[in-house]
Amino acid sequence: MASYPEILQKLIILFRKLPGVGRKTAERFAFQIISWQKSDITFFTDLLQNIGSALTFCKTCGAISDSTACPFCDERLRNSSLLCILASPKDIYTIENTRIFNGMYHVMKGLLSPLDNRGPEELNLPALEKRIETLPLKEVILAFDSTLEGDATALFLKDLLERKNILVTRLALGMPIGSSLDYLDEGTLSKALASRRP
Ligand SMILES: [Zn+2]
Repeated sequence: MASYPEILQKLIILFRKLPGVGRKTAERFAFQIISWQKSDITFFTDLLQNIGSALTFCKTCGAISDSTACPFCDERLRNSSLLCILASPKDIYTIENTRIFNGMYHVMKGLLSPLDNRGPEELNLPALEKRIETLPLKEVILAFDSTLEGDATALFLKDLLERKNILVTRLALGMPIGSSLDYLDEGTLSKALASRRP
């Protein structure tokens, strides 16, 4: 059986690390790339090389940004009595697109995963607790995917926050089990936000 040249095999292994990409798709991606013009390949490699230094994570909320001022942490423009806790900086954009939330954000470093033995020490709780102490909070919205990890983390945080007498709500309605925020359309997500419940 003939195998691909080594560099192609390496490329295929890399592509397979992307979500939803299996062996066949990874092979198609690799063969597509070697058919690109040299200028496109150079542009692509330059982007990859610079992406680490061009983006920073906000030290306060965990959002990504290409400047030092985080647009999501400006308390003059946003409602600091509302805090939305999420699992990924990408989800901030999903929530922003609904245009019905104007509070603050906090991105968790990781989620609880009972199956993979990922416990509370993975969550970077000190950062969250510091956040909660500095904001005049009235409500915390937990906006995790409806998965095993999302549910376990939500349950854990709900307990922790309620002990501090903070109202905790979760996205409701139209969040099917196993669904990711990513795949919800804006209408569904808006509804889930508007009808959030304790
Ligand atoms: Zn921020």
